[in-house]
Amino acid sequence: MQISRIASPLKLLTIALKVGRVTKKYPFGPPLLTESFRGAISIDPAKCWGCGACTLVCPPNALTMRLEGEKIVLEYFKGRCIFCGMCADTCPANAIIVTKEFELAATSVEDLKEDVIHKMSKCAICGKPFVATAEIRDVMKMQPITEEYANICPECRKKRAVKAFGMRFGAST
Ligand code: SF4
Ligand code: SF4
Repeated sequence: MQISRIASPLKLLTIALKVGRVTKKYPFGPPLLTESFRGAISIDPAKCWGCGACTLVCPPNALTMRLEGEKIVLEYFKGRCIFCGMCADTCPANAIIVTKEFELAATSVEDLKEDVIHKMSKCAICGKPFVATAEIRDVMKMQPITEEYANICPECRKKRAVKAFGMRFGAST
């Protein structure tokens, strides 16, 4: 028992002497950033649809969406981001990349926030803004849907479908 207690630190010392220094001198030298290191994300506003899928999977709510008049704003708050990369895996438009950026110190909280602003399209029937224009544009490129259908809000689509169903089965309106 006594021998093994002495032998263990000696063994560790031998290994340590063999391996040498493993810690980095960061921040006085470059940090160790491995191939799989994940830092803050970067959103490409030109690719983003404003669909909000990333906000639904973000565990700490670092990504949020809000309406501002007829605009939809996707906000990325780096101060909350845990660098998990789930948003990048989820984004249907491949608009998010995970960078190796991790030195995020700032003098103001506002400096840690980034907005992607989208114009919203209005429903062709009721006139309410209901979806980011970029989402309609890009989804129409991938799906065989007409402009007339894409430009109608879900509520009006539902009403139209119910009316069509009623007419088919002899309802008066
Ligand atoms: S990397 Fe993770 S925590 Fe950061 S914004 Fe994306 S989903 Fe949220
Ligand atoms: S397109 Fe990607 S980055 Fe833009 S809101 Fe949707 S999921 Fe988020």
